[in-house]
Amino acid sequence: MIQPRSRIWTKLDFEKDGKQVGYLHLPHSVDRSGAGTIAIPCAVFRNGSGPSSLLMAGIHGDEFEGQVALTRLIRDLDAKDITGRLIIVPAINLPAAIAGTRISPIDDRNLNRCFPGNPNGSPTEQIAYYIETELGPMCESWLDLHSGGASMAFMPYAQIILSRDEALNKRALAALEAFGAPLSVIQAFSDEPNMSNSSATRNNAIHLGTEAGGSGSVGPDGVRLCYDGTLRSLVHLGHLSARNSRIAIPPRPKEVRWIEIASRDYYTYAPQAGLFEPVVKLGDMVKKGQIYGFVQFVDDPLRDPAEVRFEASGLVVCMRHPGRCERGDCLGHLASDIKR
Ligand SMILES: [Zn+2]
Repeated sequence: MIQPRSRIWTKLDFEKDGKQVGYLHLPHSVDRSGAGTIAIPCAVFRNGSGPSSLLMAGIHGDEFEGQVALTRLIRDLDAKDITGRLIIVPAINLPAAIAGTRISPIDDRNLNRCFPGNPNGSPTEQIAYYIETELGPMCESWLDLHSGGASMAFMPYAQIILSRDEALNKRALAALEAFGAPLSVIQAFSDEPNMSNSSATRNNAIHLGTEAGGSGSVGPDGVRLCYDGTLRSLVHLGHLSARNSRIAIPPRPKEVRWIEIASRDYYTYAPQAGLFEPVVKLGDMVKKGQIYGFVQFVDDPLRDPAEVRFEASGLVVCMRHPGRCERGDCLGHLASDIKR
């Protein structure tokens, strides 16, 4: 069967040398604009043959650090600085990025649960399809910059999610080392076919991600992690020269702490609806069985709070940001140190 083409169109020429900054146009006919499009910003840098990489942020619109880092990178880079081709999309789910929301306000879809997408689906499904079938096949390496968004706060880190393809895992691990995040994560167990890392695997591309802060704000440490790490990755991938680059390549941190998220037990979920009061902080080391916090019932003062305990030991790398929770909300997760 012939694969239908995406309805997203662009005047950008992905094969042309030089620096082009333009738009991916997603047809979107609404009251305000009957023949309109959603114009998703995209930059293409090309300088001869060589490696080809996709750099994207804003798959979740409320994850801001990567969006800031990639918009800055578009301004900072010239085509002559690089070898090969870079495609940079700093706010790839633009409606969500403009609204500052995780999911799109247009169709209530989460782009990172929409892969491989649908050429005739809702706007978010069409974006997923465009990544899966147009941008993805052009690029053997994907950087996909995420953060905690409004509902989570992370210790900023870079990560890979292991796939079933050992050769890809090896390439991804080398890229993660080159990214040089002081906290570097190997996530073992995610196997969701509708997420971007699986889309990369289907395209035989490595997928390198971040969780660069969160809390619904822009954290300077996370922006620096995204920007500096991306530059170091571009050297590793053969796009930039460490010695001759016009842009200074920041040195790797002296110490890298390697951690893994090994199983579902590392995650903690709210047992009741209420107000979650944590008694530990991001960066604490905790033990299995230790109290994480209490769900308080402020509308029922005589009711005892519900205890929440950790089901594994490790480093607290992610915590829920808002105080109120529903039963089943993720309250945070751990990671554990690994030797490398
Ligand atoms: Zn995200």
